[in-house]
Amino acid sequence: MNIRSAPRTLAVATTALLALGGVAACADDGAAGADPQRVDVVAAFYPLQFLAERIGGDAVKVTNLVKPGAEPHDLELNPRQVGQVVEAELVVLLKGFQPALDEAVEQNAGGRVFDVSTVQPLMDAAAGGHDHEGEEHGHEEAGAKDPHLWLDPTRLATVGDKLAERLGQADPDHAADYTARAGSLRAELEKLDAEFTAGLKTCQRREIVVSHTAFGYLTERYQLGQIGITGLSPENEPAPQRLAEVIEEARKHKATTIFFEALVSPKVAETIAATVGAKTAVLDPLEGLSTDGGDYLSVMRTNLQTLRTALSCP
Ligand SMILES: [Zn+2]
Ligand SMILES: [Zn+2]
Repeated sequence: MNIRSAPRTLAVATTALLALGGVAACADDGAAGADPQRVDVVAAFYPLQFLAERIGGDAVKVTNLVKPGAEPHDLELNPRQVGQVVEAELVVLLKGFQPALDEAVEQNAGGRVFDVSTVQPLMDAAAGGHDHEGEEHGHEEAGAKDPHLWLDPTRLATVGDKLAERLGQADPDHAADYTARAGSLRAELEKLDAEFTAGLKTCQRREIVVSHTAFGYLTERYQLGQIGITGLSPENEPAPQRLAEVIEEARKHKATTIFFEALVSPKVAETIAATVGAKTAVLDPLEGLSTDGGDYLSVMRTNLQTLRTALSCP
């Protein structure tokens, strides 16, 4: 779903909240959470779960609101999940990415929130696209912001540093541990960033055709160009006119590979690939972890190899 269909989601969330009103009122221990030894953290989707687990270590208990294998853009909260938000000691989210969660937090979580979109300004939706002969190919509405910041490892490291500070406020006894773990995670993310920079430095092609425009932060950081079959949210069917444009773009840039996502149907990517004589491959936007396992770091390294093959980087 996209931002325009948000009212329906809000109605669902509000109904769930009303149903839970009684439960919330009875929880007189408030933010103490279910496990008194650990900080109860609710993460809005996988990369934020990864950060919270790596930085929180054994001092936190992290719950991800999105089930493994599910796509987080269209998250709707059931009453049990609203209960988790109500009882969390800290909710880690990206405001604007999942409107149903924003609404639940506004009504129930008060100051117990860490909004990763406040750490650094988000990029405009059109940035990280591509242009040639001064002609822009973006098709996002003016003013739209791109939420997919985790695909730049250096941005994720900065979010991690701030999350460590926030956890230290919630749990001062372990503040030094949070800072130390954020520091070692930063070192790993900077190593990953260096691998991407080196691995994508010289390639025969620099444009990637992807299923939705999730890769703006990655293409901006490593000087690639992004051609999205659909916009900032995954959709099953692009408009016929957009499909025709993408086919033309794929031909113009001699794309060898049309990328699709593990959590979204590959059908449209397969159609385009067949039309232009390209292959398809998974380029994972890491919005959720697919059932193949791994973690943020290993999936990003797989993405790097996939890109190097598709773009012919020696
Ligand atoms: Zn996305
Ligand atoms: Zn182009």
